[in-house]
Amino acid sequence: MALIRNSKLRPRILVVGGGYLGLVAAQHMLKQLGTGEATVTVVDPNPYMTYQPFLPEVASGAIEPRHAVVPLRRHLKGAEVVTGSVTSINHAKKFVVVEPEGGDEPFELDYDQLVMAAGAVPRALPIPGLAEEAIGLKRIEEAVALRDHLLNRLDEAALMDNDDERRKALTFVFVGGGFAGVEILAELEDVVRAAVAQHETLTEADVRFVLVEAMGRIMPEVSEGQARWVVDHLRERGIDVYLETFLQDCTNKHCKLSNGEEFDADTIVWSAGVKANPVLIDSDLPIDERGRLTVRADLRVEDENGVVADAWGAGDNAAVPDLSGMGPGGYCVPNAQHAVRQAPVLAANVVAALRGETEFKQYFHKTMGSVAGLGLYKGVAQVGDFEARGIVAWAMHRGYHGWAIPSAERTSRIFGNWVLNFLNGRDTTSLRDLDVPRKAFVEAAHSKPAPKKEPKDAKEKANA
Ligand SMILES: Cc1cc2nc3c(=O)[nH]c(=O)nc-3n(C[C@H](O)[C@H](O)[C@H](O)COP(=O)(O)OP(=O)(O)OC[C@H]3O[C@@H](n4cnc5c(N)ncnc54)[C@H](O)[C@@H]3O)c2cc1C
Repeated sequence: MALIRNSKLRPRILVVGGGYLGLVAAQHMLKQLGTGEATVTVVDPNPYMTYQPFLPEVASGAIEPRHAVVPLRRHLKGAEVVTGSVTSINHAKKFVVVEPEGGDEPFELDYDQLVMAAGAVPRALPIPGLAEEAIGLKRIEEAVALRDHLLNRLDEAALMDNDDERRKALTFVFVGGGFAGVEILAELEDVVRAAVAQHETLTEADVRFVLVEAMGRIMPEVSEGQARWVVDHLRERGIDVYLETFLQDCTNKHCKLSNGEEFDADTIVWSAGVKANPVLIDSDLPIDERGRLTVRADLRVEDENGVVADAWGAGDNAAVPDLSGMGPGGYCVPNAQHAVRQAPVLAANVVAALRGETEFKQYFHKTMGSVAGLGLYKGVAQVGDFEARGIVAWAMHRGYHGWAIPSAERTSRIFGNWVLNFLNGRDTTSLRDLDVPRKAFVEAAHSKPAPKKEPKDAKEKANA
């Protein structure tokens, strides 16, 4: 295994994960570091950061997929960007193993300061059929695939004679009533209803959307009253919302719910929570009972003996103490609002540590509230005691996230998408065969040759 060593002229700050926290923290470090003071290396399997709050709108077609991601090389000028996955971490010896995308040999990368920003992964439960049949929504590719899958199902169902098959094709199940789950359900229901109107042989009554939530309420980020309003709103739109209900089995896309109901569904979207990135399990860094990196409020990693030198973490992969006292169990909830604010604190502290300073900033943020889009012109918001519903909340959601996506360049592309959609109407185009792009060429290459005939010249053909 090759070892990429530091030049030793400069220390290396290694950022594992170029997501929301990793990108913004690296940008702040690059601004603060003097020329030649340190190398900032960012390792991520994707050459871009995904702005996850926009995944539901990518799935609905309101935003072009490429505009909801932030290219790392363009927005991290001066950093070393490595496109690969960290597969293990040896902090005692200060190196990680990186598996490059594209199948090259894994290599070791050493560092002086480690920043863990690897985020979270879906928390899938051992439900029969789930791993085989369901799809999550953490990645841009999933949002694109979901959109095409749903719209293609309408095209196919429109020609189906068999009622059972048609019902299965047009039944869409969403498990998990958190913010992300409700947003993706509501955005997709909105676009599917609009697309159904364009099919002569389909009606809204043919389509069934189901939300399954294990708790007695949805969206814990908003008040009980707001959450109840969202349930009523979804039900008014014809969506079946089941509370205190579990998905028990979905083998071969046959769903069995804990309330006794059984039905076939061609689409099962799992959005029932996240867990810290499992790469931490393959490390010698301290983690808690939920697999999260244990850190102090100054974002230094700590174990039972105190601070672990030269290791830092925040965002979804860490248990960051919430000094405002608002977080459940005393920790910050895993969301973008915290990640983007933890990033500058983390960057300042890492640079301070590199310069031998011993005073570090503490992370403190009082949750501002939450805004969610529920489809075109529909939303829900809670900012402190201020509550909004409908078009006002939807405008707040768009305004906030359009501004919050890193870089003015991406903000302008996002607003450009929205303006174009407003002027031209909703785009319900789906693309086929994105997962098998060679299909048409392979079919052409294997097609029968034309039967052999004596060639006739053009004059003969004209006289014939
Ligand atoms: C559908 C959806 C909607 C959301 N909506 C909101 C919202 O409205 N408001 C809000 O506040 N929050 C929202 N969130 C949550 C928010 O996006 C996350 O909390 C935030 O992105 C966390 O930032 P992070 O940097 O910790 O993790 P991420 O942004 O997930 O970044 C982690 C990075 O690590 C990389 N990585 C993973 N494994 C490895 C590895 N082995 N080696 C190297 N790199 C690795 C990943 O590719 C990724 O780029 C939403 C999330 C989803 C999924």
